[in-house]
Amino acid sequence: MILSTHAIVGGAIASLVPSHPAAAAIAGFASHFAIDAIPHWDYPLRSISLGKGANNRGLSFSSATLTDFAIIGIDACAGLGLALWMFATAASIWTIAIGAFTAMLPDALQFVHTLYPRGLLHAVQRFHWWIHSKRALTGLFGVGSQLAFAGMIAALAKSFH
Ligand SMILES: [Zn+2]
Repeated sequence: MILSTHAIVGGAIASLVPSHPAAAAIAGFASHFAIDAIPHWDYPLRSISLGKGANNRGLSFSSATLTDFAIIGIDACAGLGLALWMFATAASIWTIAIGAFTAMLPDALQFVHTLYPRGLLHAVQRFHWWIHSKRALTGLFGVGSQLAFAGMIAALAKSFH
């Protein structure tokens, strides 16, 4: 799923354990794999490749690459911002941030793996790819269903408070 969705889910889970940052970190990280298993939409990248057999070692600083990084950066910042806006209180802000961050982290590791496909990174990547849904949703239905999913998780977490 897109990083914003991962961050909202990670933040939502963290909001249930607002004074346990370590639990929020572990649960956030695990949530990434759990929701990637659901068929979903992902935005296309023009230059960066992720997933099975991906290799970004030859990545050049073309406008396509910069556009990809800009989209990913906006997605990640929007995700963190939304998670904090929806769930953080003065006391829980760091726990929410940690949950949102670790929920997005596996996709960053996926990128690092395309540069250094070794050891633990390789094991995590294999698991990520294995659990990631092979059914891609497309178009308006893809975007709408992910928006609905993120909204539903946020509402569910709010109702627990
Ligand atoms: Zn993922």
